[in-house]
Amino acid sequence: MTCDAVHTADRADRITGTVADLTWIAESWPDLHQMRLPGTRRRRTRRPLSRTARRRADELARTERQEQPLAVLGASRAPMHVAVLDDLAQVLAEATETAAGINAATGIVEPDPPSTAYDFEALDRLLAYAAAHLAAAADADPGVLDDAQAAAARMRRTLERSLSEIVDGQVLSTVCAWCHGRTAEAPVGGERTLVVRLVAGNPLIVCESDACEPPPADCGTWLFGKPAWPDAEWEWLAKRLGA
Ligand SMILES: [Zn+2]
Repeated sequence: MTCDAVHTADRADRITGTVADLTWIAESWPDLHQMRLPGTRRRRTRRPLSRTARRRADELARTERQEQPLAVLGASRAPMHVAVLDDLAQVLAEATETAAGINAATGIVEPDPPSTAYDFEALDRLLAYAAAHLAAAADADPGVLDDAQAAAARMRRTLERSLSEIVDGQVLSTVCAWCHGRTAEAPVGGERTLVVRLVAGNPLIVCESDACEPPPADCGTWLFGKPAWPDAEWEWLAKRLGA
């Protein structure tokens, strides 16, 4: 292979890798965005878990967690601050800059910029624009590829860290008082489905069963379509669980 051919193949690999990172970011940021709203009511129609969310749920299920009795949970709150909005704003700023660099190199019309530093809806169009025109930009100015590759890697690391901090599951030893640990896979019940999760720095106990339907009087918070109880309700919850 000639020197030029090696260079061309290497560049193609870098473009492919960068586009893969941009695509991963586009798929993953809505998960983080949704999780910043722990009190969001369940939507009427359940949407299937995204691939990322399902992978995280699988990891959660596989990981052996150290169990603690519910009574001590109040004392074991992790001093963790998850600055989800700041992380997303950082990703948005990087995506905006990347799109601007590609626009400068190619002259291809850019999508509308975000209206504010927290206009996360703009991420989709900026990331799609960057992925679509990266190759053309790299032809016009190799420096744009260097910048875009580094920015995509940074954005991905930021999202991965933010997502992993939030899924801080600790499985409770108590069986859920509503579904009694029944799931689609374990219709007999008895599974340990109650998991502590930190969402935007706030701890919640979530029943991860796919078959848990507490009445509205017993649960006012839903996370990813699962019933959840914020820490203010844990004392009440502990009584209901007989802990
Ligand atoms: Zn349950």
